[in-house]
Amino acid sequence: MSINNEVSKRKTFAIISHPDAGKTTMTEKLLLYGNLIRSAGTVKGKKSGKFATSDWMEIEKQRGISVTSSVMNFTYDDLHINILDTPGHEDFSEDTYRTLTAVDSVVMIIDSTKGIEAQTIKLFKVCRMRGIPIFTFMNKLDREGKEPLALLEELEEVLEIDTYPMNWPAGMGKGFLGIFDRHGDQFVQHHPGDTETYIPNNELSNHKDLIENPTFKDAQQELELVTEAGNEYSEEAILRGELTPVFFGSALSPFGVQVFFDTFIHLAPSPTSRKTTLGPIEPDNEDFSGFIFKIQANMNPAHRDRIAFLRVCSGKFDRGMTVRLARTGKELKLAQSQQMVASSRDTVDEAYAGDIIGVYDPNAYQIGDTLLVGKNTYEYDELPQFPPELFKKVTAKNVLKSKQFRKGIEQLVQEGAIQLFRDQMTDAFILGAVGELQYQVFTYRMQHEYNAEVMLESIGERLPRWLKEEQVDRKLFDSGNLLVRDRNNQPLVLFRNEFALNWFKDKNPKIELIDLFEVN
Ligand code: GDP
Repeated sequence: MSINNEVSKRKTFAIISHPDAGKTTMTEKLLLYGNLIRSAGTVKGKKSGKFATSDWMEIEKQRGISVTSSVMNFTYDDLHINILDTPGHEDFSEDTYRTLTAVDSVVMIIDSTKGIEAQTIKLFKVCRMRGIPIFTFMNKLDREGKEPLALLEELEEVLEIDTYPMNWPAGMGKGFLGIFDRHGDQFVQHHPGDTETYIPNNELSNHKDLIENPTFKDAQQELELVTEAGNEYSEEAILRGELTPVFFGSALSPFGVQVFFDTFIHLAPSPTSRKTTLGPIEPDNEDFSGFIFKIQANMNPAHRDRIAFLRVCSGKFDRGMTVRLARTGKELKLAQSQQMVASSRDTVDEAYAGDIIGVYDPNAYQIGDTLLVGKNTYEYDELPQFPPELFKKVTAKNVLKSKQFRKGIEQLVQEGAIQLFRDQMTDAFILGAVGELQYQVFTYRMQHEYNAEVMLESIGERLPRWLKEEQVDRKLFDSGNLLVRDRNNQPLVLFRNEFALNWFKDKNPKIELIDLFEVN
């Protein structure tokens, strides 16, 4: 089969949500469609309490979580589906953001009883800055939640994205009748016991009980209103990430999940060209290429090996092939290639654009590295620097070990495990992270890989804003708002909170403050 054929079958996406909105439940249902698991409840070790593989990192075992995201894949409707897990809860980290650089679309799950929550906003911003198409699933319709119109309004206002409801619910909670499937011209009727039947629009008149139900009539009227006053459907706008198609349903029941998935999977884009230093590279380009978006260290404590996660962007990957590391020009044989299927690892023999493979890292790779074959050497766009939120001062517990301490920090920062800043006044080391877990992994690895115990002192949650060198003036910064420099020596201010940030902006209107979420 031609490369082009293979590429067009690939659908690579991530599911994003705030904790407890229903990501795991939805993932399990999708895996059931793919016959990947026989019963729900096996996606996360955390929930089932089981660990399928013996060699997870020690922290993972201790805490019962999956530290870094894994990839699940299955065949559905002749399509090759790759779902990338985005760790949430306590294991939210920069890796969660980076995973979003390796997907072609995103499913955003929102708890309709709660509306849009904090973590959803953060993940959404990353999708926005990458222009990733976003498909929304309003979950938990089996419970009394917010009104559908109010939910759409919230999406438009809080996330500033246009919406297009792909279906419209009739009732919710106990009085839930089903959904008008606008895309499929049918009504999906909900029955007690959570079964669903499909009634084509032109047969609805045969279902008197249903269409005369006041809840049905109300919803029909609402839908008419939405059709008249709402946004127009545009596949182009969806693919540009400017319009989100919205589906209503219940992942748990499950209800509306099949309709959602069937519609989503055909609208979701297959891999397209990606930017490099030599211009865009097409996914069906014959020469293999890809980039590393995550490095998972110490999965096997006995060997201290590392697995680098590679997103294939063009050509064909064959097991054991020799590739070139664009940054150094060095040739490497991709010896152990693995596909991460839930918590087991299967060997991959071949892969195409859109696929994710785990390759053995002989301590050669950095996050963002390009691997390729062929005459031309180029690099995929650098992964963006994501703004950290948590900051801690770090010192060596034992001053005699400052050499190991510095070496460890330098390497872990280079690898992308955590971000390093230096206090402008005191030159102290300050570590920035997106999630608490990054500090735990850092501390563990410093001790076990570099024999350097560290002490961390929290300086709390901060709002980092970068500024121009010529605008740096020490007098401007009081003790509360720390002036620091990132590893590229760029200056930034760590504001204590929103209030301090706004106060500063008022006082210093001429100083341009840069929010990384807004610029990438
Ligand atoms: P995650 O943290 O986003 O992965 O959320 P989970 O999938 O673990 O779901 C969190 C809780 O919400 C669990 O108790 C689920 O059973 C429940 N849940 C998920 N989807 C639904 C739904 O559609 N309806 C209801 N009533 N509960 C749901």
